[in-house]
Amino acid sequence: MPHRSGFVALAGRPNVGKSTLLNRLIGAKVAAVSPVPQTTRTVIRGILTRPDAQIVFLDLPGLHAPRHRLGEVMVDAARRALGEVDLVAWVVEAGASPGPEERIAADALRGAPVPILLVVNKVDRATPAAAETTAREAAGLLPVAETVTVSAQTGAGFPVLVERIIARLPEGPAYYPEEMVTDQPEQFLVRELIREQAIHQTRQELPHALAVEIEEFAERDNGVTYVRATLHVEKPSQKKIVVGRGGKRLRAIGAAARAGVEALLGRKVYLDLWVTVTPDWREKPALIRGFHPE
Ligand code: GDP
Ligand code: MG
Repeated sequence: MPHRSGFVALAGRPNVGKSTLLNRLIGAKVAAVSPVPQTTRTVIRGILTRPDAQIVFLDLPGLHAPRHRLGEVMVDAARRALGEVDLVAWVVEAGASPGPEERIAADALRGAPVPILLVVNKVDRATPAAAETTAREAAGLLPVAETVTVSAQTGAGFPVLVERIIARLPEGPAYYPEEMVTDQPEQFLVRELIREQAIHQTRQELPHALAVEIEEFAERDNGVTYVRATLHVEKPSQKKIVVGRGGKRLRAIGAAARAGVEALLGRKVYLDLWVTVTPDWREKPALIRGFHPE
């Protein structure tokens, strides 16, 4: 059997489970996951290696109608990535009828120069009939090459999904060493883990106004990795929320993020978190890029 390899975009509207799928497919936590839409801001790469194939997944920011510059930057990054892959996996949510949001995603995918594999996710939450209806309605919006039904939560349907993807990849060598699950720099992964915890522990609109900037990432003599990060928010009221009474919430964010970072890096970590008000950063391209280097 020839060895196959290629790049596969996980694309779709926000919150359908693209990042959860990525983490579960590669068996490592490389993408932040949350119930808050638009958690993924940059293209996250995750690598699945088997003896006969290597799939490089690109987890894209959700395709949506942007309301600020940050949103535009995110959607632009997703659109660009669509032109650089061998296959698009269009992820939709089982049991949800495609609404205006799905139409926006479908429109963005229409121009993709590669086949589209429809992935109906979250089947753990829907009946087979409802999943079937979702698949039919989605395919009505945008013609797809084939459909696979999965649950990123339980792993149901994964073997079929992986087989269907590999069958559509070109013949070619592995791009990355087999033990590599991502080529993202450690600092980016740490940034995402801190942001994910901050999102989990704050509410409402705040997560969208939050960016995490890694200021220092250093190996200390005692073997501890020292990480200093600034959490940027847009308003003093948001800073109050993130810091919490007597610094309580910031400490909770730090404790939870540190556990995740240590599990990821496999070594002791000291997290030094700061919160600062950076007004309107979401409207300033230089700050957006500075806080989200790719
Ligand atoms: P993304 O915006 O498409 O990347 O979506 P995320 O991966 O961040 O997931 C959005 C929400 O859906 C999170 O709360 C996930 O835990 C949840 N989720 C993702 N996949 C599944 C699934 O297969 N079943 C269920 N029940 N929830 C899921
Ligand atoms: Mg995501």
